[in-house]
Amino acid sequence: MRKILIAGNWKMNGSTAANEVLVSGIVAGVPEGDGFSLLVCPSFPYLASVAGMVAGSKVALGAQNVSEHASGAFTGETAPSMLKDVGCEFVIVGHSERRAIYGETSADVAAKFQAAQAAGITPILCVGETLEEREAGATEKVIDEQLDAVLDAAGADSFAAAVIAYEPVWAIGTGMTASPEQAQDVHKHIRARLATHNAELAEKVQILYGGSMKGENAPGLLCMPDIDGGLIGGASLKASDFLAIAEAAAQN
Ligand code: PEP
Repeated sequence: MRKILIAGNWKMNGSTAANEVLVSGIVAGVPEGDGFSLLVCPSFPYLASVAGMVAGSKVALGAQNVSEHASGAFTGETAPSMLKDVGCEFVIVGHSERRAIYGETSADVAAKFQAAQAAGITPILCVGETLEEREAGATEKVIDEQLDAVLDAAGADSFAAAVIAYEPVWAIGTGMTASPEQAQDVHKHIRARLATHNAELAEKVQILYGGSMKGENAPGLLCMPDIDGGLIGGASLKASDFLAIAEAAAQN
């Protein structure tokens, strides 16, 4: 039985004061149950302070990006060991905003994935197609290329310590959500592709859905057999919105 993970990607939002309100609200309202876990991913400057706020709670800490290098002359970058040092258990790699705005290639993403794991941090590998790619019937081809880059570099067994997030680019921050059936089809495809390498492991990997998930659509998405949680942007910035999704996870 795979546990549900509800992860908040705060993107470039927050402040010391706003984070305190958000995290204290989340920590105070975590629903009962042990079939799910919660994660928040603030911007780098706030990781250490949010680590203190979530300490001892059911909420874990993650980062939104990481360097593929261990240390050295890489101005502006953050090493995986630094994330570990301030209490991160997870890091998002390959978010579509990193791929599209910062030009990260699938090879870059694979290197970050490996660097995170080498430091003992669980990568959340994001994959997903644009609307143009979906309309051209290329969804599976795009996902396969993104997934295979990591499978080739890190090996299938590396997914024993990784999470995958299917995030259709057209659904991120747009208010458009993939229907539960559309998302399930892609999640099933991802699991089947992993299963061609290691069937036992494929059954265990958590595959999250991301793209305008909210309290209202979460129950329908989370009840699909291959959807094991959510990576949430907009609805992770208000405690009551994030907790509504956590509640759907607790009820699932
Ligand atoms: C995201 O950026 O990972 C995301 C899913 O954003 P939103 O929930 O706002 O669509």
